Amino acid sequence: MKRLFVSSFSLLLCSLLFLYTAKAQVLQYTSQSLHAHNDYKQAFPFWEAYQQGYGSIEVDIFLHNNQLLVAHEETELDTAKTLEKLYLQPLLQCIRKEQHKRNLILLIDLKTDAAPTLQALIALLQHYPEIIKNKNLQLTITGNQPAPSDFLEYPSYIWFDANPETDYTTEVQSRLAIMSANFKKYSKWNGKGVLTKEELFRFDSVIAKAGITSSKKMRFWNAPDIPNAWYQLMKLKVGFINTDRIVEAATFMNNLPKYSYQLPQKQQTYTPSFVSDGKQQQPKNIILLIADGMGLAQLHAAYTANRGDLTIFKIKNTSLSLTASYDSYITDSAPGATAFSSGKKTNNRSVGVDYNGKKLKLLPEYLARQHKKTAIITAGDITDATPAAFYAHRSERTESLPILEDFFLSPVNILAGSGNKSIDSVLAVKQSKDIQVFHSIDKFQSEGIEKLVITDSIATKPAAKGRGSWLTKAFHKTVNILSQQKDGFMMMVEAAQVDYGGHANDLPYLVTEVLDFDRLVADVLKFADADKETLVIITADHETGGLTLLDGNMTKGYVSAQFSTTDHTAVPVPVFAYGPMSHLFSGVHENTSVFYNILRALGIQD
Ligand SMILES: [Zn+2]
Repeated sequence: MKRLFVSSFSLLLCSLLFLYTAKAQVLQYTSQSLHAHNDYKQAFPFWEAYQQGYGSIEVDIFLHNNQLLVAHEETELDTAKTLEKLYLQPLLQCIRKEQHKRNLILLIDLKTDAAPTLQALIALLQHYPEIIKNKNLQLTITGNQPAPSDFLEYPSYIWFDANPETDYTTEVQSRLAIMSANFKKYSKWNGKGVLTKEELFRFDSVIAKAGITSSKKMRFWNAPDIPNAWYQLMKLKVGFINTDRIVEAATFMNNLPKYSYQLPQKQQTYTPSFVSDGKQQQPKNIILLIADGMGLAQLHAAYTANRGDLTIFKIKNTSLSLTASYDSYITDSAPGATAFSSGKKTNNRSVGVDYNGKKLKLLPEYLARQHKKTAIITAGDITDATPAAFYAHRSERTESLPILEDFFLSPVNILAGSGNKSIDSVLAVKQSKDIQVFHSIDKFQSEGIEKLVITDSIATKPAAKGRGSWLTKAFHKTVNILSQQKDGFMMMVEAAQVDYGGHANDLPYLVTEVLDFDRLVADVLKFADADKETLVIITADHETGGLTLLDGNMTKGYVSAQFSTTDHTAVPVPVFAYGPMSHLFSGVHENTSVFYNILRALGIQD
């Protein structure tokens, strides 16, 4: 009994270890790991799967009146659909065109008796010397196979599909190309969720048997044919994923590097002191941190990559923000940020104006009443919608130069982000004693703070590709100046590129941006803890990408996902608040509540 326990325990350990290594394995899959099941049923047999880079293509054949016909059932036989026309000739074209350098298995399923059908096939193949001599191509027989003891009697270009329940002699093994099995024989799993431990053991041992074949690859037919099932099968190290969804599965496989991420090393987080958190006293400063496009899935992806740790997740006061705009169920960043800066819902594309195009009173104006200074920082262009919503009044967010003109009329004191040629030429003209312009955050220093603009080209680079800690640096430089103000300040810092990662359906991009944002949050909370008079609000204008998480490992910092859109979605986004009056942020509310809670915290009447 004891021995039994020990062995099943070590078996469990082995299996856990196996699952670990399996995760990194997933990234090695491409469309070359796909098997086009019942390929002849596709609108374009052979061509579609071949063009998508499939490693294995299946065709069912019948010997009918001395002809080899392609069909699934005998009743579907059509003398126009010959093996020659649908498969051998296209294959020959590909061989001639590109000398067929990639490995391909043509799995030929014999529907009629083995001996006569194979005889007809071999006779036909004599007319295709380029096919039978091609070393990268394995013409593999399945279905009505001859007895394994007869395999060696066939020409060497004929390969066979192995069965995990058959014992093969070493000699016969040399003729096996792959191994196939009926998935349903091992599991009743419908493809949703994950396989049970018992099933994993069962599959593990059957997949290992494929090691005797030349490709060392296992294929399960009759397996669930949906993205989650493909993913779980890859984790099992199944050699070929069997699919009827030719284009969809290839797209899924080829996008795997964009859908998975593993953070090499955990980044440090900060645990706040909570000294000033939730205190019912008017804060002196407001720091609003907006991660464009960051929903709960984006946060949890970063949390998983960082081994189950994020500074943002340590904040106690949280709420959910409903993001719809005035004229659309799904907002863009313009009305999203205008809701924060004005408390009003407006049309998509509009910044700082209401749904009739009327100028709105913006947060920096309210704060100027209390002699508070304002800084707007973004890891995007300074005239992008989110920063613009705090100083400009335009119905069209893309009017970059008119938006910039509005900045000179607004009470915003510091504006930092990236510029471009036309922005910088306007700034060159405007530069004066009262309007200071800098082109690098490193060179930025100032005595007075009436109007400062920093356009640093590094700001729009992705964090992982050159921006580095630009956002945190911009925060520190700015807060050093602002914190000298006796009446306090407001700062809005935008992590613009979480949104870019979502639009690009690029998980590594998105996660590295959220992690950069979390480093900023850590430094902001450190400041708030030292200062004790700062209310910090962290939120997003909307979610981008319809991100969902399919798999993750908190110990390895690995996460895998799928996107449902390349655009924004309607799902509510989280709000985190820290510092004095942070308790105002609770429940589920419209995005405009962020504005009203800021006014309430500061004791300002609308
Ligand atoms: Zn966007």
